[in-house]
Amino acid sequence: MQTNTAALPDAKGFFGNYGGSFVPPQLQKIIDEITAAYLSLRGDPAFQAELARLYKHYVGRPSPIFHARNLGGGADIYLKREDLNHTGAHKINHCLGEALLARQMGKKKLIAETGAGQHGVALATAAALLGLECDIYMGQTDIEKEHPNVLRMKILGAKVIPVHAGRKTLKEAVDAAFTAYLGDPVTQFYAIGSVVGPHPFPMMVRDFQSVVGREARQQFKEMTGKLPDNLVACVGGGSNAAGLFSAFLGDGAVQIHGVEPGGLSFKDGEHAATLTKGKPGTIHGFKCYLLQNEKGEPQEVYSVASGLDYPGVGPEHSHHKDTGRVQYHVITDTEAIDAFFTLSRREGIIPALESAHAVAFALKLAKTEGKGRTILVNLSGRGDKDIDFVAAKYGKNYGLTKD
Ligand SMILES: *Cc1c(COP(=O)(O)O)cnc(C)c1O
Repeated sequence: MQTNTAALPDAKGFFGNYGGSFVPPQLQKIIDEITAAYLSLRGDPAFQAELARLYKHYVGRPSPIFHARNLGGGADIYLKREDLNHTGAHKINHCLGEALLARQMGKKKLIAETGAGQHGVALATAAALLGLECDIYMGQTDIEKEHPNVLRMKILGAKVIPVHAGRKTLKEAVDAAFTAYLGDPVTQFYAIGSVVGPHPFPMMVRDFQSVVGREARQQFKEMTGKLPDNLVACVGGGSNAAGLFSAFLGDGAVQIHGVEPGGLSFKDGEHAATLTKGKPGTIHGFKCYLLQNEKGEPQEVYSVASGLDYPGVGPEHSHHKDTGRVQYHVITDTEAIDAFFTLSRREGIIPALESAHAVAFALKLAKTEGKGRTILVNLSGRGDKDIDFVAAKYGKNYGLTKD
């Protein structure tokens, strides 16, 4: 089946059966204003020129594509180097877009939740650049775990607001940020961190990330004379994947693969393989595949990569699963850690643990695809943030510590 990206979502924000906007009427009014503002700015040459200027001169775009020749073992693997962006991952692409939109709408403050702190840092960066205030809600447990990112946000001038409810992690932080947003949706702008949430966020964040796909399509053709045979990207909420995939959905010969975190096992609470193990449901104001209990409440999720542990997933990915345009696969913690070291030691590139899931799947796929075939991986971020954790938990198996 051919899928035309530009045609989706429909006017109500649906990608097939998924997406939409399920929020209180008072909030819907504000969200409708965001949709209207975005739709008018999307076609505004001045807005697009400003975004293009920031991508080029601030983020460092276009990010290169690197032929990872040392990975060997079958098909040729190429990496789209989003890890080389300013702040070290793809998230800056949509944070700058959302921040520009917020400023254009006359908002004073960006707010968001953050788990590991990656979205918080990217958003605090955009806020600093564009002269906006920034409040980041973060569970107290995460604040203690992610000290360097907490410091980064504070140095950048953002306010990090600790959340003490429940398990004191991401879900409670979302609830707290949401409550704060409802308190003042007029001067604040809730900048969602992936292709999730009510319409227009899945569309808007996808559009801001589509620069990755556009660049990659052109760069890959210039390098090889052809399109890649396969695309691979990790899927948490699904923004880096949606960005890369967007330029290739109409190319029927390009096989597209999303990679979900298999964690420790398929037992409840030990993975976050939403598209593989979930069922349609509603979370945070939109419909999607969801890991849920019998009551339809989101389940506990886990992955070694904290950027991937969300019980829902973008509505566009939910739709691609049903149509079959994208194949979704699972990579375990152990496989991801192994790929983390393989890429580090063979190519001199330390990937984020999230991105290591995509690399792990590409290494497997390279064997089954075989020589002469090509695989383009979205290397969504760099692994500096993960080195202490990896050394402490897995260092022994990889010769980092003796005992
Ligand atoms: C946050 C993050 C992800 C997961 O987010 P998506 O919206 O699924 O792309 C992946 N890689 C890195 C490096 C991240 O920081």
